[in-house]
Amino acid sequence: MSTPTISFEFFPPKTDKAADALWDAVADLAALGPKFMTVTYGAGGSTRDGTVDTIAKMKEDTGLPIGSHLTFINTPKDQLHEFTSALWAAGIRHIVALRGDMPDDLQWPLDTDAEYFQYTSDFVEGLKRWHDFEISVGCYPEKHPDAPDLSADIAALKLKCEAGADRAITQFFFDNDVYYTFRDACTKAGIQTPMVPGLLPIHDYKNMCSFAKRCQASVPGWLNEKFAGLENKPEEAQKIATDLLILQAEDLARNGVEHLHFYTLNKSAITAETCEALGKSA
Ligand code: FAD
Repeated sequence: MSTPTISFEFFPPKTDKAADALWDAVADLAALGPKFMTVTYGAGGSTRDGTVDTIAKMKEDTGLPIGSHLTFINTPKDQLHEFTSALWAAGIRHIVALRGDMPDDLQWPLDTDAEYFQYTSDFVEGLKRWHDFEISVGCYPEKHPDAPDLSADIAALKLKCEAGADRAITQFFFDNDVYYTFRDACTKAGIQTPMVPGLLPIHDYKNMCSFAKRCQASVPGWLNEKFAGLENKPEEAQKIATDLLILQAEDLARNGVEHLHFYTLNKSAITAETCEALGKSA
């Protein structure tokens, strides 16, 4: 089994206490030698300043390559251009390019004019034209909720890859067969861009289930059984979550996955233990 490279996603903190937790997690996980780390961006720019500040500090503290997530929905092209030029000037070379979730007042597909991007593939093309960014995009092994079916979604993913994406990071999943089937379907559709598994450590089972419902990511019945009765037993729940994530990551590594991306939720314990089990050390 070859050891996959790793990367970590964080989100900008909203309070001083959350900031302390974030910077502790960043220090713990940066020590494991990730290839890069990324910082999320609130749709429509709601965390714009927080994202920029977090990226700047993370870059300075760790010296690692940091990627900025960026959503294009509801934001004119010239504002996106200005924002990405500021990122480029600040030494940021990696964008996780996304549409963002649909605001209530807009309908999908977007009826856009020349001032706005319509699809993520157009956005990727625009980003590449403005600066030679490394680009990650999102992908959905169980299909994006707005897509009519998986093959239409894979066709849209192919357009994003052809527009210049260097990798696609998956929505989280718990059943690796879902990922393997998706990876095969992408290969069959002629996509050569790596499909990087996005792994979610389960810090709070109930919260995870409501998040999964919103994203339409399935939660297998066997996972429900594992966490049954552990609502008030956080230590036992953390041990189970860690064991499961290690098993999941090791299976992916055995099946040819070369890079794993962790949705850290700004916490380090489960993710760090998993990476250590894969052979990473501080
Ligand atoms: P898209 O690829 O744009 O797909 C959305 C829909 O459009 C799909 O139905 C797709 O099939 C369709 N489509 C796309 N292109 C075409 C085309 N050319 N023709 C026809 N149909 C098309 N959200 C945030 O707000 N901030 C974040 O920081 C953030 N980070 C994320 C990180 C990852 C790794 C992932 C997987 C998701 C993240 N999201 C984030 C959520 C994301 O913004 C939402 O899932 C959003 O609804 C879809 O964005 P997308 O760019 O992945 O989807």
